[in-house]
Formats: sequence, C-alpha cells, structure tokens
Amino acid sequence: MFVKKYILASATPFATPYYIFTGQFPGPVFMVVSGIHGNETGSIRAAQELVNMLMRRELSIQKGTLIIVPLVNIKAYRKRSRGVPDLNRTFPRKSNTTARHPLAAALFQLVQRYRPAWYLDLHEANGLSQRNAKRLGQTLIIQPGSRGVSIVRHIIKNINSSIANPAYRFNLRLRELPGSSRTATARIIGAKAVTVETCWSLEHALRVNYQKDIVCRFLKIAGLMS
Ligand SMILES: [Zn+2]
Repeated sequence: MFVKKYILASATPFATPYYIFTGQFPGPVFMVVSGIHGNETGSIRAAQELVNMLMRRELSIQKGTLIIVPLVNIKAYRKRSRGVPDLNRTFPRKSNTTARHPLAAALFQLVQRYRPAWYLDLHEANGLSQRNAKRLGQTLIIQPGSRGVSIVRHIIKNINSSIANPAYRFNLRLRELPGSSRTATARIIGAKAVTVETCWSLEHALRVNYQKDIVCRFLKIAGLMS
C-alpha cells in the first residue's frame, strides 16, 4: 500500500489534510469524508483513527484507491459548532451549478477529479431511529433508487446482528437532500453515496467504534480490504 498526504483548499483559511491510500492491485476509488459538521466529534475521531491505523499499517487496503478527508470543516470543529452556513447545503445541486462555499467547492473538485464509485459521508445526529422514526441517529442514508441500496441493507443486517441493545441498531433511510455532499456526489458523479449517522447521545467510544466498523464493512464489500 502506498500513502500520500495532501492539503485540501490549501490557499484558503479552510486548509485541511486529506490522504490517498493506493492498494497493490487495481480496484475502485472509495472516498470517506468526515467533519462537514464541526460538532460531530465521534465521526471525526473515527475518520482520524482510521487514517492513523492505515498510516501505521495496522489496517491496509489491497485493491483500489482510498481517499480520506478526516476533518473537512476545521474552522467549525475548533468551535465545536455545526458551521455557518451549514456546509452540507452548499454542494452543487446539478452538474452545471457550482458549490456555494469555497470549502464545498474544494471538496467537490476532489470528488470530480477521482470520481469515486463509493462515497461515505460520516455524521452524527440526535435521537435513536429505533425509538423515533423521525430521528436520524443510528441510520445509514442513501439516495432513493441508488444501486447501493441492497448493499446498504446487507451491511445494516450484519452490523445489527452484532449490536446487543435493540435501541442502538441501525435503520436505512432513503433520502434526497439537495445541497448535501451525498446527493451531489450521487447525482453528478453517479457514486453509491451513503451518509453514516451515529447517535451523539451514546458514549463517545461506542460511536467511534460503530463508525469505524461501518467504514470497514463497506471497504470489504467494495473489495478494497480483505
Ligand atoms: Zn452532520
């Protein structure tokens, strides 16, 4: 595995690192982003831990290309705030439109350069979807009609069988959210784009583990990791 570190939005106040891990064998491009919202610390920590494990070779990919942007919105993270404006409403809504924020524009340029087959956007939300269907905590969200829906169902079934507390199990949500990075990547690149939402009232270490576990399950199914 080959590793290289780069800086996204390098000439702006939003400059933030990203990492490209290249496997020994050809395979799909898989992108993971976290910290589009600066207050979702479990998902940010999970992405940073995955980068650290890959750098130390405790984890490795065999095939394809893995791109990780572990902390998109550093300025919001410093204040532990969601971010103003909400970055996840500023991504392009159509292929002929542009992002409404320089950081979203830089991230989406990266998406357009590598055209990932898979795109995971790590987040956290209020509430438990098992207790309240309107809540997004403990859900995986994908575009209605996406080619990835059956794979997401399969992953949810498998992860849920490992979660003892029924209230903490994950649900699938089929949602289109114009301006979000998930919807932009699905609509414009045709990626199988998934938002991962853990519930931020759960213990921090547990949320971090759910996030890392879910990313690794996707990497295995996509063929990057054995
Ligand atoms: Zn979020």
